[in-house]
Amino acid sequence: MFYIHQRLDPAFEELLQRAVSSETLTREDGTRLIAAQRSELSALMLAASTVRDQGKGRTVTYSRNVFIPLTNLCRQKCGYCTFARGPKDAKAHTMSPDEVLMVAEAGRRQGCKEALFSLGEKPEETYEFYRDDLRRFGHETTISYLREQCASVLTETGLLPHANPGIMSREEVASLRECNVSMGLMLETTSERLHAKSEAHFNCPGKVPELRLDTMRYAGEQGIAFTTGILIGIGETWEERIDSLFAIKQVHEEYGNIQEVIVQNFRVKDDIPMRHRDEPSVYEMLRTIAAARLILGPGMNIQAPPNLTPDAYGLYLMAGINDWGGVSPITKDYISPEAPWPKIVELQEVTEEAGFDLRERLAIYPQFTAQERFVREACRPAIDRWTDDTGLVASEERTS
Ligand code: SF4
Repeated sequence: MFYIHQRLDPAFEELLQRAVSSETLTREDGTRLIAAQRSELSALMLAASTVRDQGKGRTVTYSRNVFIPLTNLCRQKCGYCTFARGPKDAKAHTMSPDEVLMVAEAGRRQGCKEALFSLGEKPEETYEFYRDDLRRFGHETTISYLREQCASVLTETGLLPHANPGIMSREEVASLRECNVSMGLMLETTSERLHAKSEAHFNCPGKVPELRLDTMRYAGEQGIAFTTGILIGIGETWEERIDSLFAIKQVHEEYGNIQEVIVQNFRVKDDIPMRHRDEPSVYEMLRTIAAARLILGPGMNIQAPPNLTPDAYGLYLMAGINDWGGVSPITKDYISPEAPWPKIVELQEVTEEAGFDLRERLAIYPQFTAQERFVREACRPAIDRWTDDTGLVASEERTS
């Protein structure tokens, strides 16, 4: 039984009781949860924390990673992006194979275990000079070059690659399968309205929700543990946020491959088209995280990035998260370069002050390493070497 020491709307209280009892929630239930008033927020968060504790206990995880921005060119122009660079920008860059290995090796020396390959989507469709770069490296497509670099990092450094190259065909997913321990693609939103002129996804063919869901399904068919999530505050409605969470839930129910769901908040930056939009408040994040936990249930790993809410991220623990995502001791957050990651010791203090243990995990979660269909043969030795019988990293260095 779940006790609420507060007078609430009886229908809302009954809904929280059902959520805590693991009853399946409907879209209507989800929209009521996320519409929680300020006076209902503490009860909503308590329910979400209770469900998190049922599935995850008091352990909160993070992954020690090194960020490898293989190319910051992209065929798209999302209204909130500062990662992608135009062709004339002096910071436009595609990493050479030597650079990739140098960064990965620096990460290995700092105790990193995940090589996070983040890159723009299919820039060869747009830029001739980039096609020349690819040819110089012996490739025709970004995915082919990425595959080679993932394999090289895995073989030469032992770090476990996790690639985020945007939408992919079934064949492209298959080509990356053997050299990635897991992969990722943010669903972001199921809202198709955001493809209209002046909206966040105008001119972004890869942001069509159904294509992103297809990529997640292809990964599911091929036994690939997959990271996804929603990006909030980019013009979507509260109902569309709920639809996005249910769309992710549906993929997971069908394929069982969604290993974590990120709830990420849009941040304003000076040099983006959406610089005049409002950022979601912490209150909005708390409602969304709690609703995500109650919709996705006790078994799902739910993550919110600490660096995007530096003054208040500890509150996210009270709303039901159990993971902080990738934290890098050596590379900045190339997606949000204005927002440095907290040091791992600070993350530990915030986590422990709230009554949780902080543990390092790999880029594949323990529930997936325990299932052979999700583990690639080439990744198994590193997984076994680094983890203890909980599936989490056996010994940690928190000196950075
Ligand atoms: S957010 Fe991703 S897909 Fe959109 S422009 Fe930036 S790099 Fe490209």
